[in-house]
Amino acid sequence: MPWRVNKDPYRIWISEVMLQQTQVKTVIPYYEKWMTQYPTIEVLAQSSLDDILKSWEGLGYYRRAHNIKRSSEIIQQNHRGKFPKNSELKELPGIGDYTYSAIMSIAFDERVPAIDGNVKRVFSRILEKKFSTAAQIKSLYEELKKYMPSSRPGCFNQAIMDLGREICRPKNPECCKCPVHNSCKASANGSVKEYPPKEERKKIPILDVVVAIILNNNKEFLITKRPKDKMLGGLWELPGGKIEKKETFIECVSREIKEELNISIEVQKQIGTVKHAYSHFKIRLHGFMCEMKSGKLKIQSADDYSWIKFRDIESFSFPKATHKLFKKIKNEIV
Ligand code: SF4
Repeated sequence: MPWRVNKDPYRIWISEVMLQQTQVKTVIPYYEKWMTQYPTIEVLAQSSLDDILKSWEGLGYYRRAHNIKRSSEIIQQNHRGKFPKNSELKELPGIGDYTYSAIMSIAFDERVPAIDGNVKRVFSRILEKKFSTAAQIKSLYEELKKYMPSSRPGCFNQAIMDLGREICRPKNPECCKCPVHNSCKASANGSVKEYPPKEERKKIPILDVVVAIILNNNKEFLITKRPKDKMLGGLWELPGGKIEKKETFIECVSREIKEELNISIEVQKQIGTVKHAYSHFKIRLHGFMCEMKSGKLKIQSADDYSWIKFRDIESFSFPKATHKLFKKIKNEIV
């Protein structure tokens, strides 16, 4: 894998952050492009957040890109560009226990077990134990430390992650190919399907969100920039919002545009609905063609706005759901 060519902590950091919540095959092209665009921390720190979000577009969980940008500035300003370790590494934005341990072990050869979902699943099966509470995870950390060698501890961490990803998968693990088959209690006892024990799943809410495609006389449409500190912060979107109780879609889109942009619109027609899933909720995104009627445009909660042509969308970063809707509205506005 491209992040395993050397022990450069910058390269390892970026790969570990990209790999959180995202599959290896998705990450590889993003990672290769990233390393060409931002080959050093210095280049990254000097790049604009807009450019960084554009590079991250499609990877999701955009807070990670904000944290990377902020961390690169801290490294430049407070550490003279030298990648920090130990407690100074822990203080960087977005560095949790897992990322800290992965960087410290792989880049700096420190004996610190890195525990992610893969590692928990593999050891839940090997030991026939449950690792979900903080106390249980701490006991796993102590257990792993007993096995961890003092030479190349990073390889130990990576080997368990690889085992979890390639062989001891959530479904259909290939025990016959597994190098720790002889030490695995779940395999010996035929209880692999019972480990890790299933957690009760919370019901995921589905939200209806309406957005307006407001065209001007130049066939440009309006987009707004989400506030930096909100979910999907810094990304651009079509203006709109969540439907309230007893509100129709048309009432909602008119109200949202009045509240957000201080203008009145006429809603002309619905042009499509797309679905998208986030980690804790799902949305149905409904797009409406609209015409501006009155008022002076003034943004109330967004960070910025712009009138763009359809061909300009590649110059801005948008959430995946908005891209899905763009596919549906293309013929209406090109
Ligand atoms: S033997 Fe099977 S269940 Fe046990 S660690 Fe290997 S793949 Fe996982």
